[in-house]
Amino acid sequence: MKAVFFEAHGGLDQLKSGELPDPEPGPGEVTVRVRACALNRLDLWVREGWPGLDLAFPHVPGSDIAGVIEAVGPGVEPGHAAPGDEVVLNPGTSCGLCQECLSGADNLCPRYAILGEHIDGGYAELVKAPAQNVCPKPPSLGWATAAAAPLTFLTAWQMLVDKARVRPGETVLVHAGGSGVGVAAIQIARLHGATVITTASTDEKLERAKEIGAHHGVRYDRPGWSREVRAAAGGQGVHVVVEHTGAATWPDSLRVARRGGRIVTCGATSGFAAETDLRLVFFRQLTIFGSTMGSKSRLPTILAHIQSGALRPIVDQTLPLADARSAQELLTNRAQFGKVVLTI
Ligand code: ZN
Repeated sequence: MKAVFFEAHGGLDQLKSGELPDPEPGPGEVTVRVRACALNRLDLWVREGWPGLDLAFPHVPGSDIAGVIEAVGPGVEPGHAAPGDEVVLNPGTSCGLCQECLSGADNLCPRYAILGEHIDGGYAELVKAPAQNVCPKPPSLGWATAAAAPLTFLTAWQMLVDKARVRPGETVLVHAGGSGVGVAAIQIARLHGATVITTASTDEKLERAKEIGAHHGVRYDRPGWSREVRAAAGGQGVHVVVEHTGAATWPDSLRVARRGGRIVTCGATSGFAAETDLRLVFFRQLTIFGSTMGSKSRLPTILAHIQSGALRPIVDQTLPLADARSAQELLTNRAQFGKVVLTI
């Protein structure tokens, strides 16, 4: 199969196009002919590597995959997955047998892995995945839009719905409204009846964020953004902060939370060594949640909301697989609003 992969960690020049052996589905697995694979910031981190990340090379990145089932391994029942089915893949894989998996918290499984992070992903003509990761593609969705949904919508869903338990009438601050997680969080908060304030680095991104449901937009590259957020929240601060920007915004994310507020963090794009003023945490009785990905069980719910039009993955642009390097460069430069998707 044709694939884009790397054989050592490093910069964009480590991404290579070439031929790799076709994956064969083992027991309980399927192979999928990839039609679209959306990029995530995770793809850049995996390429760059971090201490303790131990990959088998060559490694194929790409976590968000939509395509057609090519073959099924032993034990996969036709009622669940069969060649020719149009599917979206849940990016998180787990053992399916431990207490966490059985209780629906599969993203706490000791063997939890993500397609394209720990195992080969979708920058390729074919990818292998457990059959339990297969979801039917909503018929109304094109390939690129379907691939744009899973990772960021799962992440934002767990942050807002499962962790912060956002309620109608609450105010939610979503950082970086033009990012993948931002686009998903704005819409999920709105779907649950919240007033949404979002931040971005350009007026154009703020306008687009309003088009998808944000009520207020604030430029985070200008001094005093936290005062503007507070004012937009009626002077009292916000009930929930969706944090994924890290060190640059964290101190003010605590400051803009109202008494009893909840801060949920799923990332730290500007740095992970953030300063926490503990006085804010105890005096204001804040709750801080850490969050990574979401339970497999949430994806069918999210896809149903997408099928009904209540949630909408936003594709900024699509590029052919051969342009994977340019696609990752777009993410590096934060030039996009929503997702960059490779089509295959
Ligand atoms: Zn497990």
